[in-house]
Amino acid sequence: MKVFVVNCGSSSLKFQLIDSETEAVLAKGLCERIGIEGSQLVYSPAGKDKITTVSPMPDHKEAIRLVLAALTDAENGVVKSLDEIGAVGHRIVHGGEKFASATVITEDVLKAIEEVSELAPLHNPANLIGIRACQSLMPTTPMVAVFDTAFHQTMPEKAYLYAIPHEYYDKYKLRRYGFHGTSHSYVSKRCADIMGQPYENLRLIVCHLGNGGSVSAVQNGKCVDTSMGLTPLEGLVMGTRAGDIDAAILEFIAHKEGKNIDEIMTILNKKSGMLGLSGVSSDSRDIEDGYNKGDKLCVQTMEVYTYRVAKYIGAYVAAMNGVDAICFTAGIGENSAKIRSMVCEYLGYLGVQLDEEANHKRGEEIMISTADSKTKVYVIPTNEELAIARETVALVK
Ligand code: AMP
Repeated sequence: MKVFVVNCGSSSLKFQLIDSETEAVLAKGLCERIGIEGSQLVYSPAGKDKITTVSPMPDHKEAIRLVLAALTDAENGVVKSLDEIGAVGHRIVHGGEKFASATVITEDVLKAIEEVSELAPLHNPANLIGIRACQSLMPTTPMVAVFDTAFHQTMPEKAYLYAIPHEYYDKYKLRRYGFHGTSHSYVSKRCADIMGQPYENLRLIVCHLGNGGSVSAVQNGKCVDTSMGLTPLEGLVMGTRAGDIDAAILEFIAHKEGKNIDEIMTILNKKSGMLGLSGVSSDSRDIEDGYNKGDKLCVQTMEVYTYRVAKYIGAYVAAMNGVDAICFTAGIGENSAKIRSMVCEYLGYLGVQLDEEANHKRGEEIMISTADSKTKVYVIPTNEELAIARETVALVK
């Protein structure tokens, strides 16, 4: 079956068309600046050069119409007609407590996604627009919602409750949810496969280090804790997000700088993290360049970043009373040997010994600890689109 995987943001749309039998990506691409002047579609059919088309996209429906036209185009298309597409898998950011797994989209499901939108006001409405647009253009094709939060729904209360008045949980479901669930699930399962051991018998820690970052503890095949919270702001230092801070900082900045809550949230989400610490960039490559040149703030940024990751690993070793393997994934986790090495320097107490030669290889699933390292360490490239396609096929077959 050919599965159209859609990841809709407020002004962007990423997509892949995946053949579920071979798991090959037939085409992929990105619509940018939807609803803004200068919209464009970047379309990459497998084995051919990418094609950039500048075309007005006043809304997501027009963006999806252009994508579907590209996929069925006589010259550069990869299917003859839309009938060849057997299902659509939609990445949905927040499923709240309602969705602990992927689900076939019905009117009731759409209502439920809308109801949890207040927990993810920037993301869920865009996801819903993407679903509606696909439904209107492919009215008979089954659609599946795959939630970023679902994998973490197995967390116990002690991990997901905030120590704030309980009424806020009762009234608003304010609690920790966690994100990047599709990636944590995919990588932890791959790790068990690579280790040749049953997923249900392992204690794994997955470090998803990208522009956004989160760590998860996966015990006996279930997520027992993760570093992101009600929103993706909690936890690690990220590209532009602060991660864990003392909430009193909000009040302090508000008074000292005369800022309102929206402005402070923008600072914590968009101007903090690596960007805020370094004053240089949110991109870890720029920070590493600065580190290598001895730039003081870049050195500090790398130290704060890697220390935070190491602290989370320590916390999750405690939560699971041990760990069998640690996995690195996503843009930084897959590509930065330096950051992996700095994190692993803290892990001597786990008997981690890094194989520096393996640590410098790129782009493959690889064990980067030595054969006799007590705790194994892996780099496992994540593949959220493939995971979404697999979940979609499993539900519509
Ligand atoms: P993601 O959100 O997973 O796409 O990851 C984005 C992050 O990965 C950015 O901070 C990039 O700097 C980082 N990244 C991507 N490619 C590389 C690379 N080749 N070396 C180091 N970091 C990289």
